[in-house]
Amino acid sequence: MSEAERFVVHLTVLAADLAAAHVLARALTRSLGFLPQVQIGETTLSTEGDLTGQHQVFCDRRLPHRRRCLLRPGHSDGCTHNLRCR
Ligand SMILES: [Zn+2]
Repeated sequence: MSEAERFVVHLTVLAADLAAAHVLARALTRSLGFLPQVQIGETTLSTEGDLTGQHQVFCDRRLPHRRRCLLRPGHSDGCTHNLRCR
């Protein structure tokens, strides 16, 4: 993967508000987590037509063993890579 180029896939979804869009983005990203090509922690969300106002979907803090935190940005508990424990 180190020689591969990086691309961003923009996927338009419908949601009631930003909070609902975050929930949907997290679910979609998690469902694709089995693909090594997907950089889960780098997932962002924006309002359609406003790519400058991107919101992080995951904390993405670096963890041991080259892993990243997969909890919500600004979470109060300790970081973890385990999606099932919280
Ligand atoms: Zn974290």
